[in-house]
Amino acid sequence: MIIYNDRLVEREEIQIDIEDRGYQFGDGVYELVSIYDGKIFRLKEHLDRLQYSAEQIGMTLPVSLSTLETNLYKLMEVEKIENGQIYFQVTRGPAPRNHPFPPSAKPVLTGYSMFKPRPVESMQKGVSVIISEDLRWLRCDIKSLNLLGSILAKQKAAEQGAIEAILHRNGTVTEGSASNFFMIKDGKLHTHPIGNLILNGITRIVVLECAAKAGIEVIEQPFTLKELEQADEAFITSSTMEIMPVVQIDGKPVGAGHPGEVTRRLQEQFEIART
Ligand code: PMP
Repeated sequence: MIIYNDRLVEREEIQIDIEDRGYQFGDGVYELVSIYDGKIFRLKEHLDRLQYSAEQIGMTLPVSLSTLETNLYKLMEVEKIENGQIYFQVTRGPAPRNHPFPPSAKPVLTGYSMFKPRPVESMQKGVSVIISEDLRWLRCDIKSLNLLGSILAKQKAAEQGAIEAILHRNGTVTEGSASNFFMIKDGKLHTHPIGNLILNGITRIVVLECAAKAGIEVIEQPFTLKELEQADEAFITSSTMEIMPVVQIDGKPVGAGHPGEVTRRLQEQFEIART
């Protein structure tokens, strides 16, 4: 089944209008949550971020957050998802094609469950990334359906056999195309501050909590590609990748070229946080 506005229906029961603004303009917002052992991880934070994204684009959600929460758990149960993900999105809805907000459009909420296994092997061994220019818009704090900037960067990474593209604006590192980015130098954890240039990742929030618990100093300040070259360790975070060590950037090893000790400690803390 799937979530459709305030209820659960069979996927075949609904039709999406060809003039739905999500379909035509990418006019909408979304979330992806992870389910661990029958519990949705940090659901409140995800729902709050959905509300924030919707508000920022002047859109009212078609259901209350508590109805949405109930339906997410119902979906999890009917689809028997003990471990997996739910993707959900809200578009501004169908209306005759025209750029300004249409007074008539009613937002459309859809959500469905997915199963991507946890990338356990990559989390142990680490992954390769490339550096790419951040060509996205200047409201990256909104989790918008408009993802072309990210798609093009991720495709470039895939073509080079890398898992992610780390983005920079004029030499300042922002985040990954679909993840937040962290580097470690002399035992300190560096990451771009939240604001309009990055998404306030939920995993990022948890990592900062983990760092506090592990007594690791955090520096939330922009850093440059040059500074990144000197990093001892690096990792990316997202709801599906959790804490993913980065061991190679543009073909060059990060630090010793294998997941570092600070990253390991944070992964251990994250394991406690998620279970
Ligand atoms: N930044 C961007 C651009 C993303 O697309 C994502 C994943 N949706 C993240 C960061 C990580 O966010 P989260 O930890 O909430 O999954």
